[in-house]
This record gives sequence, structure tokens and C-alpha cells, in this order.
Amino acid sequence: MSIVITGATGKLGRLVIEGLLARVPAGQTAAVVRDPAKAADLAERGVEVRVADYNAPAMLKDAFRADDVVLLISGSEVGQRIPQHTAVIDAAKEAGVARLVYTSILGCADAGFALMDEHKVTEQAILDSGLTYTLLRNAFYTEVYTDQIPVQLEHGVVGSAGKGRIGSATRNDLAVAAVVALTQSGHENAAYELSGDEAWTLAEYAAELSRQTGRTVTYTDLTGDDYKVVLERAGLPAAVAAMLVDVDVAGVARGLAEGDSGDLSRLIGRPSTPLATAMATALA
Ligand code: NAP
Repeated sequence: MSIVITGATGKLGRLVIEGLLARVPAGQTAAVVRDPAKAADLAERGVEVRVADYNAPAMLKDAFRADDVVLLISGSEVGQRIPQHTAVIDAAKEAGVARLVYTSILGCADAGFALMDEHKVTEQAILDSGLTYTLLRNAFYTEVYTDQIPVQLEHGVVGSAGKGRIGSATRNDLAVAAVVALTQSGHENAAYELSGDEAWTLAEYAAELSRQTGRTVTYTDLTGDDYKVVLERAGLPAAVAAMLVDVDVAGVARGLAEGDSGDLSRLIGRPSTPLATAMATALA
């Protein structure tokens, strides 16, 4: 039996592997990757590297073994994820894994915004598979916002989120939660809403960025149409711009990105990392 992480060479996957290696012997961990060259360092440290692409069901057949505990990290190719995730779930079922843990999206059980759709279908496929599962419904990463600090300092913070609050969480906090769910019992057939303890508005985000940098950064709330124009002018493809507008208008502005379950801090056994701390780290 191994603890198996798909998407292990991604940013979240690497943090999960690091957390696992601090808790369990390397020989009990496996990384499913599509490019083994990116996982050479993991192999050197004793992690078993299994090569499979979410697009290749035949490869996925060899990615899992009976009694493995598997973390399916949702794919990054939006629009292709239903067949990809379905292939992983089918392979996990065929192998007879002990439990499938999945990184979903905050509020997935409720009506929401378009980015949720693939997660909803995936969650249903997991339920239909009959596998024992754990659903980690992850909030937006704080880094989604702090990675934009250079742009925000130049142009200000823009969006269509109104006064909607964002209960973001750092990737690291979400990785710690995943490690806990993977290595402890008691999380069978559970769904967790993993948001940060303190949600913030984009105006509050801009104020915090002003405070930490000594620069004046404001939040400009645009209509969805105007925000889409800004995003396209910044070089984003139309479909990506439309998706980001939808996240704000249909999601954040309607309070769907806030979360108040306390599941994240309960799972990780400490308060979640506040925005101010994550921002200071990004600025350092
Ligand atoms: P990331 O760094 O882009 O990692 C995505 C991982 O998925 C990578 O390891 C990638 O492999 C792997 N992958 C993608 N397509 C694959 C395929 N066809 N076959 C096999 N592996 C494939 O993203 P992250 O930051 O770790 O986040 C993890 C996931 O969370 C994302 O994939 C996305 O579904 C979701 N997400 C969440 C948020 C949020 O705010 N909560 C934001 C962005 C994304 P390679 O290393 O070979 O590229």
C-alpha cells in the first residue's frame, strides 16, 4: 500500500509530497507524473515514480495498486478535465484502491459558477464509483492574487467582485490539509470546505497591499464587460478572460468564495495563514 499523489510535479503536488515525506517513509509514497524528468529529484529521494498522463487511460491502469490511498490533484487543462478525471477514477476503481482523495473547489455542492462544473461532474463520478473518498473542496489560493502583485502595483487591483469576500488559503495550508487527510483515518466519505479563517474583499486586499508597500493601491470595481476588456487587453485569451469575469460576477460577488466552515484550520490543527502574512511572504 502506498500513498499516491497525481499531479505530483505541480506546485500543490510538490508541497503535498514534502509534507508526506516528513510523516511517512519515502518508500510508502508514489508520484504519478506525466514527465518523469521533472520527478528525478523525487525518485532520488526514494519516492516511487509512476508515469501516466490523465489523457491516457492505458497508462493510468498501471498507476495504481490495490489498497493505495490516492490523491487526485485536479488537472490544469480546464475544459478537458471531465474525461481526464473520469479516466483516473476508472483506473483507481479497477486497481481496487483503498481511498480516493480529490482536490475539488469550495462550495462545489451548491449552485455556482462555470469553473465549478468540471469539479461537480468529477465529484459525482467519484460518488458513483463506489470508492471510499475524501473531497477536499479547496478555496482559491491566496497566491492567485499575490502572484499578481507586480501588476497590481502598476495598475491597481481590478475586478468585478464587488464587496464579495474571498476566503482564500495558501497552497501550503491546503497541502498540509491534504497530507492530514491522506495519512489519518477518520476522513472516509467526508467532504471538507477548505477556506481561510479570515475572508477579505478586493478593496481590503488593496488596502493591505498599500500598507505593506507604502504605495497607494486602490481597488476598481468594473462591470463584467469592462473587466473582460481589461483582461483581454492584458493579453488573456477571450475564453480565459470570460472565465475570470464569471468567477468574480457569478462567484465572488455572490459570496460563493467566502466559506466559513472552519474545516481548514480544524484539519491542519492551527489557524490558517492570514492574507497579510502571505502577502508579506510574496513581497519578501
Ligand atoms: P499546477 O502547478 O499547474 O499543477 C498541475 C499538475 O497537474 C501538474 O503536476 C501537471 O503536470 C498535472 N497535469 C496537468 N495535466 C495533466 C495531464 N494531462 N496528465 C497528468 N498530469 C497532468 O497547479 P497547482 O497550483 O499545483 O494546483 C493544482 C490544481 O488545482 C490545478 O491543476 C487546478 O485544477 C487547481 N487550481 C486551483 C486553484 C485555486 O485557486 N484553488 C488555482 C489554480 C488551479 P506537469 O507538472 O507535467 O505540468
